[in-house]
Amino acid sequence: MMGSKVQYAVIGLGRFGGAVTRELFNMGREVLAIDANEDLVREYSAYSTHAMIANTTDEATIKALGIKNFNYVIVAIGDDIQASILTTLILKEIGVENVWVKAQNEYHHKVLEKIGADRIIHPEKDMGTRIAQHLVSQHVIDYISLTEEHSMMEIKATDKLAGKTLVEVNIRQRYRCTVVAIWRNAELIMTPLPGEVIQEGDILMMIGKKSDLTQFSEKEL
Ligand code: ATP
Ligand code: ATP
Ligand code: CA
Repeated sequence: MMGSKVQYAVIGLGRFGGAVTRELFNMGREVLAIDANEDLVREYSAYSTHAMIANTTDEATIKALGIKNFNYVIVAIGDDIQASILTTLILKEIGVENVWVKAQNEYHHKVLEKIGADRIIHPEKDMGTRIAQHLVSQHVIDYISLTEEHSMMEIKATDKLAGKTLVEVNIRQRYRCTVVAIWRNAELIMTPLPGEVIQEGDILMMIGKKSDLTQFSEKEL
């Protein structure tokens, strides 16, 4: 794999897996689309680098696909929880480095955790969290849960913040949040100094408690 492109495989081409596949393909990534359903595979041959019909609960089939060497495999099998678990188990057993799996419920989540899934996604729940944040502020660009309590938030600086330094806004003292980086045009300013003047349109990457981040976005944006 050294020096070659990052390779992705998506198993299950429902709404979630299908969206992941299309987006990766649109971003110019190498993506293998897999589903047991022939019609879906035919449809996705236009939105993937390769599309294959396969039942991934069969170890011999997975081995034959050469998936072992893929950098990321996304398991997006939904309703058939048993198939999702078995597929994940086989992928981890043959040594796939990053296996990201869509979970249906908490029981499914726990099993996936136990068998070594590297990331477990709850699309509806995760999206719900994000939408709630967007509702609180139009200026919140991204929001990632780090723990139950803490998050990373990306916000777009408004004219209200523009022209002030970090010290003047006194973000850490007043909101117990830290600005870890600022995107300005195409430039990334890492660990900005207290005297950094915020400009309108700056994207501030902040870390803190969810409640503190909410306070900040309500008061300062
Ligand atoms: P979404 O909500 O994202 O639309 P879903 O959660 O309803 O999807 P399903 O439709 O149950 O998920 O599964 C997604 C896809 O996974 C289906 O197209 C299905 O054919 C495929 N799939 C299910 N089991 C297997 C399997 N063992 N091997 C390969 N593909 C499978
Ligand atoms: P503190 O004890 O609050 O961490 P400090 O003694 O380190 O402050 P400075 O680093 O000079 O003092 O910063 C003064 C104030 O400016 C901080 O209390 C904080 O409110 C704000 N500040 C500076 N840098 C940042 C940052 N990266 N993110 C958030 N706030 C900052
Ligand atoms: Ca569904």
